[in-house]
Amino acid sequence: MASEGILSNSAVIVTSILLVASVFGLIATGEWKEPEEGIGVVVSILPQAEFARAVGGDNVQVSVMVPQGEEPHTYEPTTAQIRYLESADIYFKVGSGIDFEISWMDRFQAINPDMLIVDGSDGISLIPMADQSEIGEDPHIWLSPINAKRMVENLMEGLTEIDPGNTSYYEDNAAGYIAELESLDASIYGSFSALETPKFLSYHAAWGYFAERYGLEQIQIEEEGKEPTAYSLAKIIDQAVEEDIDVVLISPAFSTRAANQIAEEIGGVVVITDPLAEDYIESLRSFSDELSGWLK
Ligand SMILES: [Zn+2]
Repeated sequence: MASEGILSNSAVIVTSILLVASVFGLIATGEWKEPEEGIGVVVSILPQAEFARAVGGDNVQVSVMVPQGEEPHTYEPTTAQIRYLESADIYFKVGSGIDFEISWMDRFQAINPDMLIVDGSDGISLIPMADQSEIGEDPHIWLSPINAKRMVENLMEGLTEIDPGNTSYYEDNAAGYIAELESLDASIYGSFSALETPKFLSYHAAWGYFAERYGLEQIQIEEEGKEPTAYSLAKIIDQAVEEDIDVVLISPAFSTRAANQIAEEIGGVVVITDPLAEDYIESLRSFSDELSGWLK
């Protein structure tokens, strides 16, 4: 009896979690449904969902391709997601060269030739990858609030193209969210402005645009998407000791073995932060507070 009671309690909990999640459109895999009303906007990664909901407000149904905990460098869409694209109105891509989009965007457009593809990276200058061994440009554009502002404007233009009758609604929404991004940018700028050693190590080099914007220097641990060799690990540790670097960033999605080992050897701290957090403004604000507290 007792175990049955526990079982049904957890079933109730699971059901309510599912209910809450589906109300907010958070179930991205296998549970995609036709939008009942409004403009169907599909985005690649979670931070874009905050942008899309901010600009589209009540007029949009936002679906996220790469769900929580999955990797946009390697993600494969589900059949339900692909089927959903047939009726979507807008695909809001990051546009900066994320592997997932490079592999899939042409197919997405072929599935639904009427779907408007909004390129979030329009008007954003890409910077080279932090990892010298990798050729190409850094795709993590959204991690600078200044770039996020541009992405929001690009989406706003797409929405007004699809739904011109509500242009002023989208413009007002975008202006409100952009004001929040600007105040975020100003507060982050202030917290990093007086540093003498603004250097940090990062397991995955996601923070190039953030570092560029705030005068910081990101040193990557991972090599071409893999754990570093013993030789490069030793080199990074030497550099960190010599340059008095003592912060190691990791994302919850990546292995922490090398990062923890380095932090231990240099007597530094590990800061965990998710570059794909859905609560974009809040998570960037708390990350910046934490990072600026550790940097010198
Ligand atoms: Zn990445």
